[in-house]
Amino acid sequence: MTIESQRLQELLHKHLRPRVKEIDELGRYPGDFLRLLGEEGFYSQSPSDNLKLIRDVATVCVSTAFVVWCQTAAISFVSNGTSDELKQELLSSLLTGEVLGGTGISNAMKFYAGLEELKLVGEKTPTGYCLHGTLPFVSNLAPHSWFAVVFRTEDNQRAIALVPTDLEGVNLKEANGFLGLNGTATYSCQFQNVHLSQKYVVSEQADELIAKIRPGFLLTQVGLALGVTRASLDSMNNLQDKQNAVNQFLKVQPTSLENRLQRLTDLVEQLSDRSAIATVSFREVVEARLESAYLAMDAAQAEMLHAGAAGYVAGSHTSRRLRESLFLAVVTPAVKQLEKMLKSLS
Ligand SMILES: Cc1cc2nc3c(=O)[nH]c(=O)nc-3n(C[C@H](O)[C@H](O)[C@H](O)COP(=O)(O)OP(=O)(O)OC[C@H]3O[C@@H](n4cnc5c(N)ncnc54)[C@H](O)[C@@H]3O)c2cc1C
Repeated sequence: MTIESQRLQELLHKHLRPRVKEIDELGRYPGDFLRLLGEEGFYSQSPSDNLKLIRDVATVCVSTAFVVWCQTAAISFVSNGTSDELKQELLSSLLTGEVLGGTGISNAMKFYAGLEELKLVGEKTPTGYCLHGTLPFVSNLAPHSWFAVVFRTEDNQRAIALVPTDLEGVNLKEANGFLGLNGTATYSCQFQNVHLSQKYVVSEQADELIAKIRPGFLLTQVGLALGVTRASLDSMNNLQDKQNAVNQFLKVQPTSLENRLQRLTDLVEQLSDRSAIATVSFREVVEARLESAYLAMDAAQAEMLHAGAAGYVAGSHTSRRLRESLFLAVVTPAVKQLEKMLKSLS
């Protein structure tokens, strides 16, 4: 174990594990933990480092790992974008966790997959753009945070911008009442006559930038699934002797899931290294992201079968992981979208 991963384990043990229930059940947002990770230098511009960070956090709490993913996605938009001003003003603060970042890009991802129209429209002004529209869910938002959006321009092109939450005309309404992930500071974001300065525009060629960022975006999401699957497997392994080893009769055993987890881990580690040099096959990335959602759901369900009624108790870690794993199936790109994408990728 490297010194960094040992330090991460210490932070998770001391500052996250004791708070998982309040994050999951009371919807308390772990913003201070996100800042701590930044202060300790854990956020990176490398998809492969971020993948490992997200995986390790997800073994403890997927809500927290998801907002870590949001932070790293915001970092990737700024670092891959063309705005030097944003790079100078924002990149280091996102990396140190001083500024928290979100990504309201689900709608755009669904747009590119032919699922829905873009919900944000930008009219050109002398100083930038005037934005209108609503994004139903954007996570990891707090006062003074920033989030990435894609909007349609008047000439029917697409641009990407980083928007500060306190910009006039941006109205946030908390979205909660989800089956899980309520501690993710998720908001519906309404834009009414929002005057966005040109310096906040990350790129006016959103199609190109999205194509460049997308492999890292999906592969780092796989970290969520790897982590929650690891935790389910550890729990199943601890239950092997329960009730005179009755779990040995179950059809799905930890060994088969362990093999799938190892194969997927090897693959995404290799792909995320290659994504840094942009040689990755997007089809392989989509397949890996899809397998990760199915694996997490299979593992969480197998864990429930192993745990029995103790797992069915509300508030058990087993029941939390079942809800967390379902998030992997609905967060964009959802399983239904990934299945559709695979049909159109050669
Ligand atoms: C906990 C959580 C966190 C999320 N965080 C993010 C995030 O950080 N960034 C991001 O881009 N996406 C985020 N999403 C959205 C997610 O990635 C999916 O895109 C979303 O769940 C919709 O998936 P779907 O295709 O199944 O849509 P649908 O089945 O169509 O469901 C869409 C939901 O959005 C509501 N909705 C649709 N249009 C509007 C509208 N105009 N105004 C208000 N509500 C509307 C609907 O009532 C419905 O509940 C989050 C979702 C969840 C559950």
